[in-house]
Amino acid sequence: MHPFTLERPRDLTAALALRAQAGRNDAPAEYIAGGTDMVQLLQEYVRRPERLVSLAGLLDNRIEVGPQGLRLGAAATMAEVAAHRAVIEGFPVISEALLNSASPQVRNQATMGGNLLQRTRCPYFRDVGYSECNKRTPGSGCAAIRGENRWHAVLGTSKNCIAAHASDLAVALVALDAGIEVRRAGGQRSVPLVDFYRLPAKSPHIETVLEPGEVIAAITVPASPAALRSHYLKVRDRASFEFALVSAAVALEMDGERIRHAHVALGGVGTRPWRVPRVEAALAGASLDPAVLRRAAALAAQGAHGYGHNDFKIELMQRAIVRAVATAGARA
Ligand SMILES: Cc1cc2nc3c(=O)[nH]c(=O)nc-3n(C[C@H](O)[C@H](O)[C@H](O)COP(=O)(O)OP(=O)(O)OC[C@H]3O[C@@H](n4cnc5c(N)ncnc54)[C@H](O)[C@@H]3O)c2cc1C
Ligand code: SF4
Repeated sequence: MHPFTLERPRDLTAALALRAQAGRNDAPAEYIAGGTDMVQLLQEYVRRPERLVSLAGLLDNRIEVGPQGLRLGAAATMAEVAAHRAVIEGFPVISEALLNSASPQVRNQATMGGNLLQRTRCPYFRDVGYSECNKRTPGSGCAAIRGENRWHAVLGTSKNCIAAHASDLAVALVALDAGIEVRRAGGQRSVPLVDFYRLPAKSPHIETVLEPGEVIAAITVPASPAALRSHYLKVRDRASFEFALVSAAVALEMDGERIRHAHVALGGVGTRPWRVPRVEAALAGASLDPAVLRRAAALAAQGAHGYGHNDFKIELMQRAIVRAVATAGARA
């Protein structure tokens, strides 16, 4: 591990000032929250900050529900949110996405903000023994395109990076039109989560629209009838403690036996959480007949591109959509 100084500021204002100051002095600094992703990356020399600014105890950890919807403080843990009654009852897709993530030990430690900013699980990114990785070392190439790419994305890729986005929570939140409250020294702003993550294009190392030093303060999820009838389906190599090969987050507003409005987002297949508006449009007014669902799900494959080992994801994601919509639709 590269040596670093751990800063423990007394409040958020001091943390934001420290981080801004570190940027100006050209001494690389990073935030750390639960540390479950950051510490792994430090141990493997993937990240080498000179200063770590701890957010522990500085950010809101409340889980609040009101007529407008849900607000999750960035410091709330995955375990706290997954087990909250109002989340389980009103936004089941969020609870299910979290319970299908990581392990109980990790979920007890990991925070909402950290989850949304975890880095990709691309093995070439996480192993500095490989020199080619544009995300880790801009301009070095991409070892995955012609390498082992079973876990990689088929949507939103570029010739510079095909890494899949790793967060299950983000997929559920994108399906529910969630937003992010962002704080920086001297200000704050809100960003729709669907616009928060950037496509890799020519600069895969820049992953979000967060400016240096900004923090995620909270997540907001609007109340909707669809959120009540929502479901997260995760397909993975083993039943627990594993990232998604493919996942589907679905929220449905029903009109009797028919779908009035569908929200569908995919995980494991996109370079960012992937909303599929064409599928949603085809599902509007549709019944839950499997053949109808199958035709709508096929539209998710438009624009998908496999890289060899991950070609199977293009079919698998369509099947995941069909199953997730059928399960959400059957919910009372
Ligand atoms: C064994 C294992 C299995 C896992 N399996 C899954 C899985 O199946 N699905 C899944 O979704 N995830 C999985 N994860 C990832 C896990 O969910 C993340 O490691 C965790 O959510 C990160 O949260 P943290 O608070 O520990 O973040 P940290 O590790 O502290 O930080 C992560 C990143 O976020 C930044 N950061 C943290 N909080 C903020 C903030 N409020 N504002 C701005 N920047 C911030 C840090 O600077 C850092 O860059 C797994 C992790 C492990 C170790
Ligand atoms: S897919 Fe992205 S993260 Fe993985 S090696 Fe290529 S550039 Fe690096």
